[in-house]
Amino acid sequence: MDPITETLVAYNKYLRDSGEPADLSRFPHEPHKPERLLSASDILLCDRKACYNVLGDLKEIEPDIPEPNQLLLDFRIGNLFEGFIAEAMEWRGALVEYQTRLSGGKRKGRLDLVIEADKIGASGLWIVEVKTVKSKDPKLLEDKYPKGFNIGQAQQYADWHPKHPTPVLFYALRDTFHTKLFSWDWEGNDCVVVSWDPLFGWTYKTIIPNLWNDLQQSMEAQERWLKTGELPPRCGESPEEHPFLCVSKNGNWATPTCKWYGRCWNTTNLEPFKFKRR
Ligand code: SF4
Repeated sequence: MDPITETLVAYNKYLRDSGEPADLSRFPHEPHKPERLLSASDILLCDRKACYNVLGDLKEIEPDIPEPNQLLLDFRIGNLFEGFIAEAMEWRGALVEYQTRLSGGKRKGRLDLVIEADKIGASGLWIVEVKTVKSKDPKLLEDKYPKGFNIGQAQQYADWHPKHPTPVLFYALRDTFHTKLFSWDWEGNDCVVVSWDPLFGWTYKTIIPNLWNDLQQSMEAQERWLKTGELPPRCGESPEEHPFLCVSKNGNWATPTCKWYGRCWNTTNLEPFKFKRR
């Protein structure tokens, strides 16, 4: 078990034994302020969407597809989970920051937690980005994570933070609570990913080649739009090329899901459509 999961298990036991929940009131909620700034969480996803998101935040454009209530509840559950981790860290005396808003000049973001890892059996100052995954398959965490865009987000926070803590990603499967803790180093443009091994601590996992360049290119495309107004290209030649970003797919059918779909593809038809398999 990694040190974050171990702390959660111990805190859960403490609560079940009638312990008082840790008090997070010393971290007052900082309300979101709309600003003409790109978001750290939009790097390496769809660059065009990142720009629409800025205009949407400023209420200069309206979404074509409202965010489904289910998704909004999903965000809420993610926040509650993050709050539970923050409480556990506060209980251990490890919590330094919680939901701090940061700005790197061109970008905005809100980090999840900063912790003193020494207090939970590891070492150093960590920025912990918490991500929940909707799956029951623990193999997924081994095979498909961490995601380059999550690394990009956490790396930005670490770079902007005055103390430059070590960025780590903590993933949890929503259904089964399997967890996985990742960190990384850079070797040139390649990202060397390490994952937490209960016996040996940080252990080599894999290399994501050229991730540094990919992150820079994505950031530059988005920032160019801020300077010149030139929208970055769409993330594919057709919407169905990017099921994760533009549409959700079911068999041969695709349902538009990106909230800027109509504006982006210049269409008023937001109904599911049939596509040809390639
Ligand atoms: S519809 Fe697709 S290409 Fe257009 S902004 Fe959304 S994700 Fe990007």
